Amino acid sequence: MKYHSINDPETKTGFSQALLSSLAPDGGLYMPDSLPRFGDDELARLGVMPFHACAAHLSRFFVDSHFSDNDLRDLCADAYNFPLPLRTLDGQILDPAVPEPGDAYIMEMWHGPTLAFKDFAARFMGRTVSHLLAKSGETRTILVATSGDTGGAIGHAFLNLPGVRVFILYPEGGVSSVQEHQLTSMGKKYNVKAIAIEGTFDDCQALVKHAFADKDMCAKHQLMSANSINIGRVIPQSFYYFWTSLQIKAAFPGRPIVYGIPSGNLGNLTGGLIARKMGAPIDKFVVGNNANHPFVDYLDTGVYTPRNSVPTLSNAMDIGRPNNFPRILDLFGGDHDQIKNICTGFHYTDEQTERHLRKVYSRSGYLMCPHTAVAHLAMEDFASTTDKAYTKITVSTAHPAKFKHEVEQIIRDSVPLPASLARSVKAKSHKHLMAPSLTDLDAYIAENI
Ligand SMILES: *Cc1c(COP(=O)(O)O)cnc(C)c1O
Repeated sequence: MKYHSINDPETKTGFSQALLSSLAPDGGLYMPDSLPRFGDDELARLGVMPFHACAAHLSRFFVDSHFSDNDLRDLCADAYNFPLPLRTLDGQILDPAVPEPGDAYIMEMWHGPTLAFKDFAARFMGRTVSHLLAKSGETRTILVATSGDTGGAIGHAFLNLPGVRVFILYPEGGVSSVQEHQLTSMGKKYNVKAIAIEGTFDDCQALVKHAFADKDMCAKHQLMSANSINIGRVIPQSFYYFWTSLQIKAAFPGRPIVYGIPSGNLGNLTGGLIARKMGAPIDKFVVGNNANHPFVDYLDTGVYTPRNSVPTLSNAMDIGRPNNFPRILDLFGGDHDQIKNICTGFHYTDEQTERHLRKVYSRSGYLMCPHTAVAHLAMEDFASTTDKAYTKITVSTAHPAKFKHEVEQIIRDSVPLPASLARSVKAKSHKHLMAPSLTDLDAYIAENI
């Protein structure tokens, strides 16, 4: 498959080049030039595979000749060695072979090592990058801006990979304390460094963008992005929509499927839209935004107004200029009506999110992270506007204990830390505080290579 720059469809390249260079030479985001479309027979075959095998099969269509089928099988089996359960609020796990009656599920995407859904994309990306660098003997410096979960997932996925250094930029005071521990406790001697930027997540993202726009800096450090501007982050996000929708369809063949997604940079939604274009049996997406809602406004009005972000409880969604918005336009040729027919959006204040999280917990005992609560509330509001009997899947993007202090205040109850988080909270933390300055960043990278 070829990839084109969204600025100029005639600027095309292969997967490896798109992955390692992050942006096209004209500064545009890469998108797949065409997508495979699977028929019923092939969908049936893919649906009975385990997730990692389905992912390996799908990834064949996205990569180039640097990856053999065996490479992809090993890479996906290694990346996806944890479960992806769909469960009801009262604890039933969906099993397509013996479906119990149910119409609303939580898709728990946080059973990977950093307890956030970003592991799905980061682990695929880490392994594809490392495969290519090992072949060519090249090196790369990864810059990643994070509002919390990306940095942990990318840091973990690239930890100790030869040929790669990772610099994680996060807003000082803008991530949860558990997340900060996770980011800063990876060890001083390793190839992953955390930088606390005195600014917002948008400042971090802008700094990374400016670094990539600086040709000298790019060449000097062999910079590469692991943010969702990199197409290597977006592709694997289609795999889990593809596979889970087949599981759900097998269990409840007659019912249309809707996913509710807590959205910020829109990478997760873009993955879902790509899966749908490849023939995954998905009818609709419900998008939940917090007080930062440029995408929901776009759905409502057809007008896209990027803006500065404001801090909220669901901090991984504090995005005023979603990276992947242009990709969604590219997928649909900019047709607002088409996008609006597939996606419905709602946005909520922190107060509404807190109230919902508390209500679900007190009624069912199920505890969700604030991001998941936004999507779950959006799904409830969506359901009240339709008579159609959907199977409703709320995408749960992080373990609630990643926001331990925030969640404890909301439910007025204690939230135990899973073992992996307890370890990083105890480990020694190392961070470097920095103003949002490209010169300072350049110097710090040079000192630490
Ligand atoms: C990153 C993140 C999101 C937002 O996902 P996008 O792909 O940026 O829309 C939502 N929830 C959590 C917990 C996240 O880490």
